[in-house]
Amino acid sequence: MSAEFIPAAKPIIGDEERAAVDRVMRSGMIAQGPEVAAFEAEFAEHFVNGRATVAVNSGTSGQHLGLLAAGVGAGDEVIVPSFTFAATGNSVALTGATPVFADIDPQTFTLDPASVRAAITPRTKGIMPVHLYGHPFLADQISAIAAEHGLAIYEDAAQAHGASWDGRPVGTLGDFAMFSLYPTKNMTSGEGGMVTCATEELARGVRLLRNQGMETQYANEVIGFNARMTDIHAAIGRVQLTKVDAWTAQRQANAATLNAGLAGVAGVTLPYVAPQAVHVYHQYTIRVDAAERDRLRDALKAEHNVGSGVYYPIPNHRLPSLAPFAPGLELPETERAASEVLSLPVHPSLAAGDLDRIVAGVTAVLQAGA
Ligand SMILES: *Cc1c(COP(=O)(O)O)cnc(C)c1O
Repeated sequence: MSAEFIPAAKPIIGDEERAAVDRVMRSGMIAQGPEVAAFEAEFAEHFVNGRATVAVNSGTSGQHLGLLAAGVGAGDEVIVPSFTFAATGNSVALTGATPVFADIDPQTFTLDPASVRAAITPRTKGIMPVHLYGHPFLADQISAIAAEHGLAIYEDAAQAHGASWDGRPVGTLGDFAMFSLYPTKNMTSGEGGMVTCATEELARGVRLLRNQGMETQYANEVIGFNARMTDIHAAIGRVQLTKVDAWTAQRQANAATLNAGLAGVAGVTLPYVAPQAVHVYHQYTIRVDAAERDRLRDALKAEHNVGSGVYYPIPNHRLPSLAPFAPGLELPETERAASEVLSLPVHPSLAAGDLDRIVAGVTAVLQAGA
């Protein structure tokens, strides 16, 4: 095993990002300022048809502040998937509302419409679907359920910059959406988040909460946080925004190569893409038999020097932190996915030879076990 390790994720930081940081440092103004304002406008134009967009210091902050601005709080319920990163349910719980966990559709790994419908109660205020792995949620069915019951939609678009459903970009499908800019996401600002809002009123609410409740300095209107993005981070994000489309195209091409290579391998279920969906492959996630999954992950690393990841091994409704919201809850497709999924490297830094090694490694490990 001499070949170089292939990591599961690899942030790309280039000379232009470094120069942008240097430019801000030399300006002497490093906290939230003109770079953040420019980043918000450029992000809105690039991804969400110019929707009102507010930059914050993390995706989680964005979700939390978006929910607060939308009026979610104690006594409310918000339906969320359990098969996601804990930030989804955390953001709901932090408002004082109750996260209500629903099951997933086994093909797309996103919220299952029937399970969402079954989770609705008189206290339900909204639904927070996750565009998991970069595949949009089942927007036709879930939006119809929301409309029927007068519920809001709060999108978790942390993993889905540039994805779309039926030609409509994620980030424009709900009352607000959160995009994460964490280093392993499809683009980064170091840390950071963007909140894209359906109304200027909601955006103003997020801006107030981001900055101690102030629009005019020292005239605090509401109780708020300091969740501002710095100009240093915004400068990085603005450069990444000029590159993200090419990276997404490369992710999609890598996924196609992996699909072709793994198509005939017994025991592998390839990622599904709904006909209405543009998938941006934050992750390229296969399923294998639960009895094989951990062996595949370990042998890929030990024998083939290929990294991979399990996103996510513990359903959120089983986590010590969130389980108190879900006593006795059974979500069979969530449990099955947690035991079967494995995400293979798909990031844009992979060379053709890396993709060959990934395919050869998966094939060899599974055949050895057969
Ligand atoms: C990354 C992520 C978040 C949180 O974003 P941060 O920027 O890390 O706070 C929320 N939900 C999902 C699905 C994520 O992948």
